[in-house]
Amino acid sequence: MKIRNKFLRSLRFRIILILVIVGIVPCVILKATILNNYEKRAAAVKISEIQNQCTILCNQLTSTGYLSDPSSAVINAELTQFTNIYNGRILIVDDRFQIIQDTYGVDKGKTLASEDVIRCFRGSGTNHYDIENRYIEVTSPILSQKEKKVSGVMLVSIATDSIIDNARILEEKANIVQATVIIVVLLAAFSAAALLVRPFGRITRKIEGITEGYDVTQELHENAYTETRQISEAFNQMLGRLTAVDSSRQEFVSNVSHELKTPLTSMKVLADSLLAQEDVPAELYKEFMGDIAEEIERENKIINDLLSLVKMDKTAAGLNIKPENINELVERILKRLRPIAAKQNIELVFESFRPVTAEVDEVKLTLAISNLVENAIKYNKEEGYVHVSLNADHKYFYLKVADSGIGIPEEAQRHIFERFYRVDKSHSREIGGTGLGLSIARNAVVMHRGAIKVHSKEGEGTTFTVRIPLTYIIQGKKGETL
Ligand code: ADP
Repeated sequence: MKIRNKFLRSLRFRIILILVIVGIVPCVILKATILNNYEKRAAAVKISEIQNQCTILCNQLTSTGYLSDPSSAVINAELTQFTNIYNGRILIVDDRFQIIQDTYGVDKGKTLASEDVIRCFRGSGTNHYDIENRYIEVTSPILSQKEKKVSGVMLVSIATDSIIDNARILEEKANIVQATVIIVVLLAAFSAAALLVRPFGRITRKIEGITEGYDVTQELHENAYTETRQISEAFNQMLGRLTAVDSSRQEFVSNVSHELKTPLTSMKVLADSLLAQEDVPAELYKEFMGDIAEEIERENKIINDLLSLVKMDKTAAGLNIKPENINELVERILKRLRPIAAKQNIELVFESFRPVTAEVDEVKLTLAISNLVENAIKYNKEEGYVHVSLNADHKYFYLKVADSGIGIPEEAQRHIFERFYRVDKSHSREIGGTGLGLSIARNAVVMHRGAIKVHSKEGEGTTFTVRIPLTYIIQGKKGETL
């Protein structure tokens, strides 16, 4: 059942069906029409021929006065000859509806007042073709010699067996032609269908090969049709994307293991050196334990950041969108970070141009803004400033985080949103960076269909600008960089 269904739904079957419909159906219709018309046409020809003959004979009957004396041997011979030629029967009826002559000789003297005969007495000859009983019947008026009025009727019935025989012969020939056409069309349909779908089979085999791994070319080039070329191009693009995703995943995994191993290695070194020494002074223990605690703290931070990142990687379905007062949200973040800024004598200023309410996920947006402001504090100079400003138009709100810090070199600016990327590894590590903060920020912004961009000059400072729609767009493109 399934296999049959599969075949019925296949392109091959559709092609066969179309070719069969286009090739065979007209042939069958043509045959039926020709045969049907042949029979009618042949009957019409026969009728008109007989009518002519009847008119001639009737004229002869009139001129010889046959109705008053039906014994004329010449005329009777002619009538017999006529019936022999056409394989038929002639009845002559006089004005009292009496049969005065029957070439079969059986009904002579009987009365015949059929519809056709009566009509013929009114002046017009009749004819009809009885398809079922296979005969043609023609009546023709016989006029009287003097008054030229209808005084008798000649009724001729002719068997149409010859027409039927001819039609049968024609049908037989037509059947042979039709059968040949059907065989040729079927053969052509099956081979054309097999030929036309072949490129699709090649595509399937190639994709299977690539999927199973035994085709190492990793590219599809099926250019038989425009459509297969388009499929190939789309497939190659998708494959390229998958390969890129795969290699970035591998890179991510190796980065993660490396980052997670670094604090562990430090801890092991510290613990080993303590174990290797005897009579270690308590101060050294304390110092090393402090270092180990720091490394644990760092490991914890990396894991927390990774978890945030993984959460961000999920689809937008994980967002908890609600209308939020953005001014208050920023104020809350700055309040929390102010003590950290104060430690480095950094001035933290918030400038709001207007009250802003937007549909956002509070937790994720807070994470993004916190990371930007934390970075602005971390990579700042003593006595520097961090300037946060909030503005909006009818569509978006804009949040700027500007600092007077160390800045980011031009060539590094393209990479700072990548996972684990740090301009200065050791410096970032010293101040507790994981290289994940900006990736988290960017992902959170992108989830809100927003955009983030950076402006920075080394030694002078950095400004991050975030643009987020006031109304959450359910369907839309993923965030672009401003
Ligand atoms: P990290 O945890 O190292 O801070 P991020 O992803 O937050 O990681 O930042 C990536 C890198 O970008 C940082 O290591 C730092 O070198 C640079 N960076 C980020 N923000 C700033 C800033 N405001 N000023 C200067 N450099 C910055």
